Amino acid sequence: MNAPLNSSVTQRLASADGTDLSLVLDGRVLAEDFPILAQAVRKRRLAYLDNGATTQKPQVVIDALSQFYTHSNANIHRGVHWLSQHSTDLYEQARTQVQRLLNAPDSQDIIYVRGTTEAINLVAQTWGQSIQAGDEILVTGMEHHSNIVPWQLLCARTGATLRHARITDTGELDIADFKAQLNSRTRLVGIAHVSNALGTINPVANLVRLAHEAGALALVDGAQAVAHGSVDVQALDCDFYAFSGHKIYGPTGIGALYVRASILKDLPPWQGGGDMIHTVSFEGSTWATGPQRFEAGTPHIAGAVGLGAAIQYVMDIGLDTIAAHESALLARATEAMQEIEGVRLIGTAAHKAGILSFLVDGIHPHDLGTILDTDGVAIRAGHHCAMPLMSHFGIPGTARASFALYNNLQDVDALVAGVRKAQKLFGV
Ligand code: PLP
Repeated sequence: MNAPLNSSVTQRLASADGTDLSLVLDGRVLAEDFPILAQAVRKRRLAYLDNGATTQKPQVVIDALSQFYTHSNANIHRGVHWLSQHSTDLYEQARTQVQRLLNAPDSQDIIYVRGTTEAINLVAQTWGQSIQAGDEILVTGMEHHSNIVPWQLLCARTGATLRHARITDTGELDIADFKAQLNSRTRLVGIAHVSNALGTINPVANLVRLAHEAGALALVDGAQAVAHGSVDVQALDCDFYAFSGHKIYGPTGIGALYVRASILKDLPPWQGGGDMIHTVSFEGSTWATGPQRFEAGTPHIAGAVGLGAAIQYVMDIGLDTIAAHESALLARATEAMQEIEGVRLIGTAAHKAGILSFLVDGIHPHDLGTILDTDGVAIRAGHHCAMPLMSHFGIPGTARASFALYNNLQDVDALVAGVRKAQKLFGV
């Protein structure tokens, strides 16, 4: 694997030349690792603040994909020739990188999937085969649709019930309500580690403990967490942990699901085909052991290799360092936005990741997003695939700025200036 382009960590720490002094990392130096960020957008410097939707890719990830197809491409697991063995090694090495990222006990606890959505659907369809009428699934009121709809489908198939725990006006989970909804019928609890719409960091270890005390399993949606701080599935003690590669600087179409080994060993398959079997005959088939049982067909081999490179990249910088950097950016952005009259922040939890959701009086979030775009500021506007959460706040959507390791105070300034400009244009 290549070293990052600017591999000296000291070079990457915030420089003492003025504006970035309060930040832990120098986003401007790190941005040089990401070729797309050097591109002018609408003839302006790009301030990319849509990292919650997807992150940009560093050169090391682009190179890993290109080198894979240039030097290593072959189908995995069933080849006797050198290239196939080499490709299999790379694919499995990347699985070990995912294990390291999550501090999973074993690489065999990691199933490759297309992303968080597929991971949760996999759990709903495999583990979900044990669900019966009368059982309950409990999620929080701040879940992404991908941690709601697979459970609704499961409930529709089985006669089980989907419940949700309330959230407070600051966008935190109401723990008392969560506890009250847990009961002996609860079979699984689905929790976002970090809310994509609000940035709230949920007290996952505590919630997992409560779920286990009630006899339920716990699934954590880590889509907005893995790139923004260190994750330890053993410390969280969760049973399932899902994330998407594209939100952690890796390729699209690849992600991972951690499953506790004692659960994985008995999970039935969900998709049939090559690679997931032990033997096949017309009388019946037997299944592969380990994660292969859930990886039918030719997987996204290059994607896995690219994901491995992305994980190496963030681990070289340090996830705690990244978390501190983004937290400083969030603090500066929050302070600046609160100073603007007519701006209302949605989601003011005590513990937040680098996501700022807001509304500006008299301006629809889509209009705001369009005006910001004319100045090269990329944000997201809408319901963020969290319609029940938006209903809770009685709003159709928000404008959302979400930070990554390559952002800096110039990006925050561009956001704030864009909001003020929009207010002028709308006369509000
Ligand atoms: N969960 C959360 C919290 C998300 O933010 C997202 C995507 O934004 C998802 C799940 C779905 O991720 P993907 O579309 O990569 O499957």
